[in-house]
Amino acid sequence: MAKTVIITSSSSVNEHPSFEQLSNYVFKQLPVETKMEVEAHLKVCSKCRTITEGIQTYRKATGATQMSMETYLQAFGQQQEQLIDKHYANASQKQAKGHPISGQFGIAKGKRHKWCYPIAAMLIGCMMILFSLQFFNFQRSPVVLAEKQLKESFYTPLVIRGMGIDTIAEQVWTQAVLAYKRHDFKAAVSYIEWLDNHYELNDEQRYFRALSHLYFPERDMITAIDQLEVLSQNSARFGEQSKWFLSLAYVLEDKKHIAQPLLEEMVADHSWKHEEAAQLLDLVKVKNKKR
Ligand SMILES: [Zn+2]
Repeated sequence: MAKTVIITSSSSVNEHPSFEQLSNYVFKQLPVETKMEVEAHLKVCSKCRTITEGIQTYRKATGATQMSMETYLQAFGQQQEQLIDKHYANASQKQAKGHPISGQFGIAKGKRHKWCYPIAAMLIGCMMILFSLQFFNFQRSPVVLAEKQLKESFYTPLVIRGMGIDTIAEQVWTQAVLAYKRHDFKAAVSYIEWLDNHYELNDEQRYFRALSHLYFPERDMITAIDQLEVLSQNSARFGEQSKWFLSLAYVLEDKKHIAQPLLEEMVADHSWKHEEAAQLLDLVKVKNKKR
């Protein structure tokens, strides 16, 4: 007799009792021998313990005299997904017979989720494709490249006519350059515009004025382009540089058809920034063809 109990207990340790047995255990409807087997199993199996505790909670809360598998799944299925997952995985690993709980949990779970996984995978896949396309476009955008090149071409006037200055014009010019150097383009623009209203600007100051408008975050692109157009045609000293900034301004203004011949000239003339011009030209050409 004792021997039989030991054997059945040891086998019950390896095999989960059925849900019905666990339920009957909670509702005290098991024959003594089976009850002992279940108790022995519960000592070593936390999963079955969790399920049993669930049934006990239900019994206490409702005063019911039995609990079906269906009711259990409705009440605890969701919050025990992980447990059920593991149960199911164990069951399929062991290929164990007499695993009605895990088996049925597995089916219930499978029914809910079999179609969810491929759909989720597809959604994630689509999102990744969209994201990488966006990223690719971003990388290939002439506007983005022009913005980057504009930052890299940042120009600061070399000449600050000393601090021992006597004319107002020179003081204002110095203030304008200092503001520009600390990236306060708003102040730089207002100093240089004031200077323009009261004095005759030289080429460098005109060039500086155009760039201040261009670098100003609320940039006045139309003014910048007007000023750069004049300089690129008339200035011996700043003509070449002005042409580069002018083509950047046209790309940023989405007027790539105007930028393209300018960039082509720069590449052909091997002028200042001709390598950067060639890079930008590649992207501008692609975009212009698409039009
Ligand atoms: Zn178990």
